[in-house]
Amino acid sequence: SIRAPATKQTATLMVAVKCRPLTDLERLRSRNIIQVTDDKSVVVLDPDLSKDYLDRIQNRTKEKRYSFDHAFGPECTNLDVYQRISSTIAGVIQGLNATVFAYGSTGSGKTYTMVGTHQDPGLMVLSLHTIFNLIKKDKSSDVFEVSCSYLEVYNEVIYDLLVKSSGHLELREDPEHGIIVAGLRNIKVQSADKILELLHIGNSRRKTESTEVNATSSRSHAVLEIMVRRTRRNQYGSQVLRGKLALVDLAGSERASETNIAGQKLRDGANINRSLLALANCINALGKQQKKGLAYVPYRNSKLTRILKDGLSGNSRTVMVATISPADDQYHHTVNTLKYADRAK
Ligand code: ADP
Ligand code: MG
Repeated sequence: SIRAPATKQTATLMVAVKCRPLTDLERLRSRNIIQVTDDKSVVVLDPDLSKDYLDRIQNRTKEKRYSFDHAFGPECTNLDVYQRISSTIAGVIQGLNATVFAYGSTGSGKTYTMVGTHQDPGLMVLSLHTIFNLIKKDKSSDVFEVSCSYLEVYNEVIYDLLVKSSGHLELREDPEHGIIVAGLRNIKVQSADKILELLHIGNSRRKTESTEVNATSSRSHAVLEIMVRRTRRNQYGSQVLRGKLALVDLAGSERASETNIAGQKLRDGANINRSLLALANCINALGKQQKKGLAYVPYRNSKLTRILKDGLSGNSRTVMVATISPADDQYHHTVNTLKYADRAK
């Protein structure tokens, strides 16, 4: 359920939390400290206080409960998540903007949620399917055109993930289209089927750096944008509606200081924090705006927030999916993510 906007021009924000299952490896060495208690709440057990796990489940005094618009447990599929947010996506064929992003530490399930697998397709793929279905079912004689771009923000530099070896791309202010990424490839798509393949190729081009946290720690932000251009013709001429859906797989939210990195990687970490911090500040301001009316939203502070500006402002809708691991050794990351998501509400 999306909360009603305070005014018509106020963006809406929905916050969901998703806990992944323990991986096979984790099952051997980690304990589950997360309970999704209902469709809105998660409970976190402090691993230092919950040596006797079952006791703690019964005696809920040492637990911390967090509540959001939606909470999804390890048994939930990406489709379960998608069904709760699909109304947000539907507006895109009516000329509305929306942004969906996954926020969480490395290994918490961001890429799984956004991209997914063949058995459990992620929000990027499901959104495209919905958009094409809605267009197919549309009764008007309007003409639709759907196109996609897929970019990466790494170290405050923008790269095109749909081309083989992308150079650095720059942001430009366009009088008609607002902020655009100059030279970014924009592929026309006729169906959703091809997109998973495209996403996997794009993802293999993402810059990853092995850190002590995780051998395939992703340190980049990936942004899939789906543009729907709707042309309506009548006796007076034609009108064009443009809707844009941005789906974002953010870099790991863990702090650079925790990964014992140096040199290039440290600078990298600092910049990741800049984009994440800027996004956090925007989300925070959006939350305030929703509760108390207009507030200044500081979009200009990073590449990522400038790219996402259209999808975070005006009458657009934003969904944040906070991803968490159930493992006890991820306790601090989990609590940080839940606190971040809690502040966004
Ligand atoms: P992140 O992108 O946040 O670093 P990943 O999406 O790569 O994390 O997920 C980390 C690991 O957990 C991967 O092996 C992934 O396949 C697995 N995983 C994440 N979510 C699920 C899920 N819902 N079901 C099964 N495995 C999952
Ligand atoms: Mg990832």
